[in-house]
Amino acid sequence: MTQMSAISAPAICPVSPDGICDLGTPRSFDDRSGRVGAVSVLRCRHCGVGVTHPPLADVAFLYEGRGSQDFQPTTVGLARTIKDIAFRRDARRLVRYLSATPRRLLDFGCGSGLFTRCLGDVLPGCEVVGSDFHDEPPAELADRRYVPNARLVQESADFDAVIAMHVIEHDDDPVALVRRIAAMARSGGTVVLEVPNIDCVWANIFGEAWDAWYVPFHRIHFNRASLRSVVENAGLVVERESDVCLPSMGRTLANLAGARNTLFFLLAGVVLHPVQWALERLTGRPSALRIAARKP
Ligand SMILES: [Zn+2]
Repeated sequence: MTQMSAISAPAICPVSPDGICDLGTPRSFDDRSGRVGAVSVLRCRHCGVGVTHPPLADVAFLYEGRGSQDFQPTTVGLARTIKDIAFRRDARRLVRYLSATPRRLLDFGCGSGLFTRCLGDVLPGCEVVGSDFHDEPPAELADRRYVPNARLVQESADFDAVIAMHVIEHDDDPVALVRRIAAMARSGGTVVLEVPNIDCVWANIFGEAWDAWYVPFHRIHFNRASLRSVVENAGLVVERESDVCLPSMGRTLANLAGARNTLFFLLAGVVLHPVQWALERLTGRPSALRIAARKP
């Protein structure tokens, strides 16, 4: 009990550094990385943000060798075809989401690079650049532009659009990370962020099996207010906020079954997607949140 009350102490709010969070009772999770040990999520009683414990000042070690699920380990055959179709559709949607067609676009935290590649395909004439922790590009971007995070400082910071899809929840200090992301956009450029929603209807239904908890990889768990707060505190002007239905039923079912995420679960996720979409619409509690902001 002593230990529990110690980590429930007030803490600096990760999405609004001038504020103090009143972190509630820790909720325990399995360590999906196998490298951290006991992990838990604490939720602020005031602002609703969720914080993964223990804190990790540098998370790069979690992604060594691109072994985590974030890099969509090589898929072939039908699984590959399904992902190609889904990512290409999402890329077209993202392009429509931007207020103007960009001439230069940066995909910060590009992971497997498949989405970056699809963006390049649907945006002919736009220079699409992927960026991530690693020195070498992911296989998907072998013949595309890739700049390691550490070398972004050498790149002209004049991107019309900088996107970070499911990225800022991977860092203990999302305000500092959003500042780094936004630093690459030109003045008047657009920054688009997408994160899982801690207030998602599925978090209640599936509990710890809901795939978007994904701890310790996910460090900060946002709701609408905390996502807006992080964007404003990073000096950006919020322009649009939207709900996103993130296909996560397949992986959630695999978690429930304690099984690997095989083609069977991918297909189950495809079949259940309309149900997922409908319940998120009905409840107004989507699986993911998107925000577009303007850099002043
Ligand atoms: Zn708080």
